[in-house]
Amino acid sequence: MKALCWVGTNHLNVERVPDPEILNPKDAIVRVILSSVCGSDLHLIDGYVPTMREGDIIGHEFMGEVVEVGPEVKKLKRGDRVVVASVIGCGGCWFCDHGDWSLCDNGNAHASIAEKAYGYSPAGIFGYSHAFGGYAGSHAEYIRVPFADNGMFKIPEGVSDESAVFVSDGFPTGFMAADMCNIQPGDIVAVWGAGGVGQMAIRSAYLLGASRVIAIDRFPERLSMARLHGKAETLNYEEVNILEALKEMTGGRGPDHCIDAVGQEADTPGALHYYDLVKQQLKLETDRPHVLRQAILACRKGGTLSIVGVYGGYIDKLPMGAAMNKALTFRMGQMHAQKYIPRLLEYVQRGEVDPAYLLTHRWPLERGQEGYQMFKHKTDECMRVVFAP
Ligand code: NAD
Ligand code: ZN
Repeated sequence: MKALCWVGTNHLNVERVPDPEILNPKDAIVRVILSSVCGSDLHLIDGYVPTMREGDIIGHEFMGEVVEVGPEVKKLKRGDRVVVASVIGCGGCWFCDHGDWSLCDNGNAHASIAEKAYGYSPAGIFGYSHAFGGYAGSHAEYIRVPFADNGMFKIPEGVSDESAVFVSDGFPTGFMAADMCNIQPGDIVAVWGAGGVGQMAIRSAYLLGASRVIAIDRFPERLSMARLHGKAETLNYEEVNILEALKEMTGGRGPDHCIDAVGQEADTPGALHYYDLVKQQLKLETDRPHVLRQAILACRKGGTLSIVGVYGGYIDKLPMGAAMNKALTFRMGQMHAQKYIPRLLEYVQRGEVDPAYLLTHRWPLERGQEGYQMFKHKTDECMRVVFAP
């Protein structure tokens, strides 16, 4: 089959690879119908996630049709149209039992690599390096889905492929970002990053009761999408001082909750940019934490910092004193897709949220390298490129 493979930093290639096979009785094989790019892939492409190997198939946000199931797959069958959770959870361990699917004890086939770096291993993720299980990703014609009864969800009638694909990863991530804030009626939520994840965090914050949401980015078309589809107020950080603007917009108190939907490759205006960039290039810090620093300072006293932007390793100059003395609550994580997907499919089915507007480009797999370059540089008003293998 054809697949989009990681060859090296900033280099992808479409290659012929062997078709996936059922390896375990709980596996299924899915024919991929749509597979989206995600901000998390950029960390692999830019070389910030170690343990990638030449030939690894990337991609983790996808939907498709079940073409084969192992003997222990009971809930779904051949021919079902499914959306698949990007994280791999066994459904039987202590973490899955508690709804913390991205922390599954058995979903990472290479747990020992992650244990060395993190103490304990999180779950595996499709197409997301060997430290996260070494699973083949979804930018391919077919994919093997382990623990298929937990990871695959039947797409209800009336929900289009274009809407369902984002229920795999972008929507649950935005939803978890808002959920972790424990939003109370009247609360104001600030969201850094108006990419697909930020857009879904904005919608989710309103679904969970926020009275106002403020989105921060620098791309006008992304901010205008946040206003149009998300009903957010917006700030362009190239035009205003974010700390001052947020203070003013919240009557001097600060946002109740601050969501980081940017992560380790934050654009950092001013001299700090060079500080972080040099340290990151020299591997003295792995991540550029500009948004974290800003959100800690911007957040109201006693507020929540909810982090879904991905961080990989070590950061520098984090204002821990501000966080501690302002009594902030930190919540974070890779999202627990399996916990949220059924509820999100209902929102989509009822027409309350239709994430299909994130799809700005629908391309064949052959244009993978070009698609990722466009997505990375945010050219042609690209929000998400979706490949149709
Ligand atoms: P994206 O690249 O489409 O969007 C990121 C946005 O952040 C861009 O619009 C960019 O302009 C903006 N940005 C950069 N620097 C900024 C700054 N200083 N202030 C405000 N905005 C800034 O990516 P995405 O798909 O929306 O993903 C966003 C983040 O979420 C990534 O780090 C991704 O890895 C992460 N993610 C996490 C999970 C999870 O499970 N936790 C799942 C999916 C994605
Ligand atoms: Zn993702």
